Amino acid sequence: MRILVTGGAGFVGSHLCERLVADGHEVVAVDNFVTGRPQNVASLRDHPRFSLVEADAIVGLPVEGRVDRVFHLASPASPIDYVELPFETLFAGSDATRNCLERALADGARFLLASTSEVYGDPAVHPQVESYWGNVNPIGPRSVYDEAKRYAEALTMAFHRYKQVETRIVRIFNTYGPRMRVNDGRVVPAFCSQAITGKPLTVFGDGLQTRSFCYVSDLVDGIIRLMESDLTEPCNLGNPSERTMLDLAQFINAHTGNAAGLTHRPLPKDDPTRRKPDISRARAHLGWAPQVEFEDGMGRTVAWFREVLEG
Ligand code: NAD
Ligand code: UDP
Repeated sequence: MRILVTGGAGFVGSHLCERLVADGHEVVAVDNFVTGRPQNVASLRDHPRFSLVEADAIVGLPVEGRVDRVFHLASPASPIDYVELPFETLFAGSDATRNCLERALADGARFLLASTSEVYGDPAVHPQVESYWGNVNPIGPRSVYDEAKRYAEALTMAFHRYKQVETRIVRIFNTYGPRMRVNDGRVVPAFCSQAITGKPLTVFGDGLQTRSFCYVSDLVDGIIRLMESDLTEPCNLGNPSERTMLDLAQFINAHTGNAAGLTHRPLPKDDPTRRKPDISRARAHLGWAPQVEFEDGMGRTVAWFREVLEG
C-alpha cells in the first residue's frame, strides 16, 4: 500500500514508518519538525519506498498521488511541548485532523487518529475503559491538548458517520523508547537523562501518582493491527502494568547506579493521579497484548539515552 504518516519524524511516527517500510509498503511522512527531527528517520533516508515531506499538516498535505492509508500522528505530545505550543496543539487536533480526513475521503483511504489516554483526564474510573467519557478540565493548562484530541475524535466519528470514511481511533497510553527527545519533559526522558548525568531525579508532587508504560514497538504493532481491523470504536493501546513515579525513579536510579537520589518538585496543575488502560477491546478485536517487559524496554531505552548523552 501507499501510506501517509503525519508526524512521521517524531518519536512514535519514526518507529511506525520503519515498521511499515519493513512490511513492504511505500511510506510518505509529513512533518514540520516542530518537535520531531529528520534524524529520527535517518535509517530510511535513502530507501526507495520512503520519502519525507517538510510541511505543516495544519496548512495542508502537499503529497501527490493517491494514498491507501492515512495515519495522523502530527501533534505536540509532551506536556512541556503543548504548553509552549498551545495553538499549534489545538490546530493539530482540529485543522490538521480535518485535512487528513478530507484527504482520506478524496482518496477513498482508511484513516487512523492517534488519540490519547488524556481524553479520560484525571479519571474517576480505573482502569480506564473506552466507554468511560472522562474527567477533563476544559479550560486548564492541559486543555489545549486534551480538548483538541477530544474534538479530533468527534471530527473523526463525524466523517465516519456522515461521509462514510473508514476510520480508526487509537487512545495511546504513556509510551516510551529510543528517540524520545532528551529534553521533551516527559518523565522517562527526564529521569533517564538525569540518572545518566548523575543528577537527582525530579519527582513531581509526592510521586504516588501512577502511569502504565508501554514500549514503542508494542504500540506500533497495535496501531497497525488496529488500522487493518474493522474496529471503528476507539481502542486503548497501552501496557496495563501500573507503577508510581516513585517506583519508576527508584528503578532507573538502581538500573543506572545513580547515587544522587530524588528531589521533589511541585505537581503540575491537573496532573492525572492515576492511569492504567483496560485493554480487553484490543485483546478481543486485535489479538494484541504488550510483549516487551518493563525491565527489558527500559534497559534498551536507558542504553539509547546513554549513547545520545555520552556519544
Ligand atoms: P512527537 O512530538 O515525538 O511526535 C509528533 C510529531 O508530529 C513530531 O515529529 C512533530 O514535529 C510533528 N508535528 C507536530 N505538529 C505538526 C504539524 N502541524 N504538521 C506536521 N507535523 C507536525 O510525539 P510522539 O510521542 O511521537 O506522539 C505522536 C502522536 O501520538 C501524537 O499525536 C500524540 O498525541 C500521540 N500520543 C503519544 C503518546 C506517547 O506516550 N508517546 C501518548 C498518547 C498519545
Ligand atoms: N513527572 C515527574 N517528573 C518529571 C516529569 C514528569 O515526576 O520530571 C511526572 C508527571 O507529573 C506525571 C508523570 O510523571 O505525573 C508522567 O508525566 P509525563 O509528562 O511523562 O506524561 P503524562 O503526564 O502526559 O502522562
